[in-house]
Amino acid sequence: MQTKSLSTYQFEFRPYRRPFKRTLSTSHGNWDVREGIILRLMDETGRVGWGEIAPIPWFGSETLEQALDFCQQLPPQITARDIFSIPAELPACQFGFESGWEALTNPINFGSPTPPFSKGGQGGIAYSCLLPAGEAVLQSWQTPWNQGSRTFKWKIGVASIADELKVFNQLIQSLPQSAKLRLDANGGLTQQEAHQWLRAADEAGIVEFLEQPLPPEQFDAMLKMSRQYSTLIALDESVATLDQLEDCYHRGWRGIFVIKAAIAGSPKRLRQFCREHDIDTVFSSVFESAIARQAALQLAAELSNPNRAVGFGVNHWFEAEE
Ligand code: MG
Repeated sequence: MQTKSLSTYQFEFRPYRRPFKRTLSTSHGNWDVREGIILRLMDETGRVGWGEIAPIPWFGSETLEQALDFCQQLPPQITARDIFSIPAELPACQFGFESGWEALTNPINFGSPTPPFSKGGQGGIAYSCLLPAGEAVLQSWQTPWNQGSRTFKWKIGVASIADELKVFNQLIQSLPQSAKLRLDANGGLTQQEAHQWLRAADEAGIVEFLEQPLPPEQFDAMLKMSRQYSTLIALDESVATLDQLEDCYHRGWRGIFVIKAAIAGSPKRLRQFCREHDIDTVFSSVFESAIARQAALQLAAELSNPNRAVGFGVNHWFEAEE
């Protein structure tokens, strides 16, 4: 039954480039500039909703070029049907368009600031603070600690395991007892190294979890490891998109799921999955700018495990935004 014609939205987009203050090193390589696309939707009454496409192709999303191609082939007037029929191969576009549409149609969710978060965690969900890889970590946690951060993330699998374990041992001796440390290997360890890290983490007692020790192809090995150690394992690269997240869940993963909302795909489908399944989640940034960040934090406020810090403590990696 045809009820009424769909609202149309005027659509404009603009690519952006945002350099990091310092190079971000992970086991995928170095990253210097965040590139993405800002979307603007305007309805017939002149109300505006902003969205952001922030892809990370090496993490499993579309490329910036694919996202630009998609935006370029759209007409200047689009409907909700266009927005909700973006193919799953363009997960960052799904997120950008849907969240822009939500900001326009349901602006109550997009007031500022997002309330239930605080840096240190008193009275709200805390932020996990990303520290630099390598030895620089030893001098980098004190300032955020003094500002209230209690959960820290350190990238491993960047240098040799011998060097990193040495730094790790210094780090755990200097960190206060109440700190929590997340280790993120970005899939860069061998199985033998993953076992070494899990043993070290079990002994250290302050490691909240080891994130993505092995590449996604080695899911079965990670599933087995997740049952062998008391340190939890979080999947990140393995669950970059909603399709992958659902697949890992159905294959038996009951450890932590890192959800990078801005590249996971449709927020509507993400809400549905999280509400239907009791999963342990950590919501995390993809170094998006303020528009996608607000939309992703809104989802985190609704869906994230409230006992875990969210991975959005990354603003210190950029020059001030406003
Ligand atoms: Mg990660």
